[in-house]
Amino acid sequence: MQIDAATRNNLELLRTMGGDTRGSLLSVIDRTVTAAGARMLARRLASPLRSADAIEKRLDGVGYFFEHWTLRAEIRKALASAPDLSRSLSRIALDRGGPRDLAAIGQALSTAFGLATVLKNSDDVPDEIALAAEAMGAPDRGLRDAIVKALMEELPLSKRDGGFVRESYNEDLDAARKLRDEARGVIAGLQQSYADETQIKSLKVKYNNVLGFFVEVPSQHGERILNSKARERFIHRQSVAGAMRFSTAELGELESRIASAGDRAVQIELGIFAELAARVIQSASLLEMVANALAEIDAAAALAERAVESNWVRPEIDESLSFEIEGGRHPVVEAAILQDGGPFVPNDCSLSPPAGADAGAIWLVTGPNMAGKSTFLRQNAILAILAQSGSFVPAKRAKLGIVDRLFSRVGAADDLARGRSTFMVEMVETAAIMHQATERSLVILDEIGRGTATFDGLSIAWATLEHLHEVNKCRGLFATHFHELTALAARLPRQVNATVRVKEWESEVIFLHEVVRGTADRSYGIQVAKLAGLPHSVIERARVVLAELESESRSKPMQGFDELPLFQNLKPAPRASAEGPEKPDPLGQALDAMHPDEMSPKEAMEALYKLKNILRGG
Ligand code: ATP
Repeated sequence: MQIDAATRNNLELLRTMGGDTRGSLLSVIDRTVTAAGARMLARRLASPLRSADAIEKRLDGVGYFFEHWTLRAEIRKALASAPDLSRSLSRIALDRGGPRDLAAIGQALSTAFGLATVLKNSDDVPDEIALAAEAMGAPDRGLRDAIVKALMEELPLSKRDGGFVRESYNEDLDAARKLRDEARGVIAGLQQSYADETQIKSLKVKYNNVLGFFVEVPSQHGERILNSKARERFIHRQSVAGAMRFSTAELGELESRIASAGDRAVQIELGIFAELAARVIQSASLLEMVANALAEIDAAAALAERAVESNWVRPEIDESLSFEIEGGRHPVVEAAILQDGGPFVPNDCSLSPPAGADAGAIWLVTGPNMAGKSTFLRQNAILAILAQSGSFVPAKRAKLGIVDRLFSRVGAADDLARGRSTFMVEMVETAAIMHQATERSLVILDEIGRGTATFDGLSIAWATLEHLHEVNKCRGLFATHFHELTALAARLPRQVNATVRVKEWESEVIFLHEVVRGTADRSYGIQVAKLAGLPHSVIERARVVLAELESESRSKPMQGFDELPLFQNLKPAPRASAEGPEKPDPLGQALDAMHPDEMSPKEAMEALYKLKNILRGG
């Protein structure tokens, strides 16, 4: 599925618009237990598939783990303690690896062999999982065994100083280490015999990088040595605050024995490392396949885990143009709302071609601010992405004909609040959609045309909707505050008007977040402004101004648009009278707004269609 950068941003797939990974779609669906699995999941989400077959294969894998709870738990537990195979592999291949990388490869191979056996012994394993199991079992056991046999339990970060090969793994190494350790023992013994000989109890044998091994005594004892015969054996090297340092021939000789035995031991260990690393590099392509298989299993089991957690369902995928979502939810908004203790309201969406039509539907979603339009739009796009990534989806049921390209845009007015977009950018992006969207595409437009003057914006939104319907013929969701556009449904047979329900109670507005067929009667902008805490005086003044504007626009035709067929029927509907709360009567409103004397025969026809449509509840 092609998803352009603006859509990725807008849907916050891997990052939020603010650039955080927290709050992104990936962050709320990611239940992987390995870094490689997480990378795999991110890749899948970023590039959903377009072949129904390939998607079904992935879904089979997820479905298998969805049903087999114990197996899933067992596999996830094993994976959680497996190291990052591909990371260690690339470090070894670049000659930057250390003993811990070798150990990681050995341990990851053990996990892979274990999982391969478990899966091979399970029944009805679907193709994709069986293939992964085969890849995991493919490498030679000998490599893993050699690594396990050679390496100690506790390993240094770097191979440079040795100290990582087990005792008894290599005879030469054991001999060199013994020599080195014996010499160290002799040095420890020397301290006692030097102390006895010089009668200096506080004498110590010490080591530093400059002097190597040396004898250290307090200064006054040092003077005694210098003035006695002992100075022939104890050669003065250095005086430091309160102490004198001497070397001896024995210490010098022992030191070079330790050094050469130590060097030899390190050389042998490096040789063993190089040999194991060469074997790893030789099997690199098999090992990469193992790493990939482990990541795939992790991703599939994680998606199953996520699906079980929130009752997601397996989407039905085919090559048709259908798009039927029952009880769909926005996974990110839902997670946030659940955390605050509120319920998320699931919503249906049906963009399948209406009976007899050869292209999908476009829903025109009107409704008050804050009602949940943007959430609804994005959730349907996200469901398509999840489904084609091979994931279950947050819905009661989802049937989806493959989407080839997905476009999701937010109008400049919305985006400006985030300081990002401008009207120009919005138009450039809208142009791209019109040039690229096919009848297989899914187009989500949220408040397009709001970044300019009202009539400009309305005209652009109007023409855009017509173009998408008539030329692109894509499936689409179009949210708008231009209620005038709902009337286009009379002419555009695949346009479906939908609105997000609200309840008015004692002049307060209550958001129900429920998307239903029909049109919104008003925007409730003032109520939302009140909720947001605008001063009482401002709210009251706004109500007066609104009433004034509405009565004016009812009495005068809207200049400039009167020539446009249909448009003169679309003047804003009458609003609440002074006496009481408004009772919306769309039919009455539409009739009020019509002026038969001024209509051409064509306009009259269209007006008739509109009235019929209103009667049908469109
Ligand atoms: P505006 O027109 O101001 O952009 P909107 O209609 O696009 O508003 P959203 O931004 O989608 O509204 O939603 C507003 C808030 O309503 C969300 O932050 C969320 O908390 C809540 N909300 C949206 N949809 C639902 C839902 N289905 N169930 C519960 N709460 C919801």
